[in-house]
Amino acid sequence: MNDLRILVIEDEPDLRAGLQHNLELEGFHVDVAADGKTGLRKAQQDNPDLILLDLMLPLMSGLEVLKQLRQSGHTHPVIIVTAKGMDRDKVAGLELGADDYVTKPFGLTELMARIRAVLRRTQRHTTESMSQVTAVEPSGPTVGAVLQFRSLTVDFKRFTVTKNDAEHQLSRFEAEILRMLIDHRGEVVTRQNLLRQVWGYVHLPTTRTVDNHIARLRKKVELDVDAPEHVVTVHGIGYRFEATPLEGTP
Ligand code: CA
Repeated sequence: MNDLRILVIEDEPDLRAGLQHNLELEGFHVDVAADGKTGLRKAQQDNPDLILLDLMLPLMSGLEVLKQLRQSGHTHPVIIVTAKGMDRDKVAGLELGADDYVTKPFGLTELMARIRAVLRRTQRHTTESMSQVTAVEPSGPTVGAVLQFRSLTVDFKRFTVTKNDAEHQLSRFEAEILRMLIDHRGEVVTRQNLLRQVWGYVHLPTTRTVDNHIARLRKKVELDVDAPEHVVTVHGIGYRFEATPLEGTP
């Protein structure tokens, strides 16, 4: 875990200092921000390996920080920190592309477990941290691959898709969904399976979350979103990726 940088965006001074101290004890390099605006700027400039993002922040809310980060194409892993009873915020955060959440008050053990789990899930795809990538076993045939389909190029190194010569950046979730569909191309992948594999846990409120991400993914990979030819709906069950790679690709 050495050399990994965590940005803590938290306005409560004691909690911020406590998190910094404890994360540093765990071997992380820690930077802090006390409001949303500063947090967003630091996240965009410094490219941290993980962001711990409180949602209730002065100047700019955590959800707004997350939204702007994702809109500007940043795919940093983000763990949101929510208050008890704010389930709606939690869901909104996950839909905006947060990787996980912790609910206040949380213990250090729980937080560390979540940070490690998110880093495990994300480090193997993060090109910025090559030293970590080499230590991790690839999880499937598409890891790090560039795949060429008839009207679509998928680059799992850079998290991009290209259709009609236009390149689109994939969010982390979109890339994971696409990876799973392509790994099982020609087969049906259920929503439940996507939830388990892509999000890593099964307690999201509805499978609609999957559908929302699929809708966003389709805008990037389909020529006509109303008549998808790659990410095909299997009604009542899930999705299937349709396409045969061109010769010479895995
Ligand atoms: Ca706060």
